[in-house]
Amino acid sequence: MKNTPCLLASACLCGAPCRYDGRAAPHPELVRLYEQGLALPVCPEVDGGLPAPRPPCELRGGRAVSKDGRDVTERVLAGAEQALELARRYNLRLAVLKEKSPACGGKRIYDGTFSGRVIAGQGLAAALLAANGVTVINEDECVSALDLLPGESR
Ligand code: SF4
Repeated sequence: MKNTPCLLASACLCGAPCRYDGRAAPHPELVRLYEQGLALPVCPEVDGGLPAPRPPCELRGGRAVSKDGRDVTERVLAGAEQALELARRYNLRLAVLKEKSPACGGKRIYDGTFSGRVIAGQGLAAALLAANGVTVINEDECVSALDLLPGESR
């Protein structure tokens, strides 16, 4: 029997090659949950219409700006809305999202200078989900947080 999803997860952590460099960032636990149908993958940047690969983007003054100077905020916000819609449809209260991303970062993001410097802040999708009652954690926190899941899901 197919499982019902119990959390959202960044698609790159589930093994999808959707990062700016066209690669994945697979996390073993999330790949396993995805393969079991328990993690529902979302990529706010690609879901909003950006290609993979693509120029990297970072947040600057609340806007998502790509390294080639394009403002891609509306694309990322569109993908964030899609993630929230999925969370609502499946009644998901937990999202494991990739830290430091301008879309998915839950606590830390790159500072907008493309210099690799990281500051406190939230990505656009993480902020939208958190504002709507979804608990956002990162890939380093997820193993202990999986205790939050119902017993039959593990
Ligand atoms: S937007 Fe999120 S899911 Fe997509 S590649 Fe970036 S970190 Fe991964």
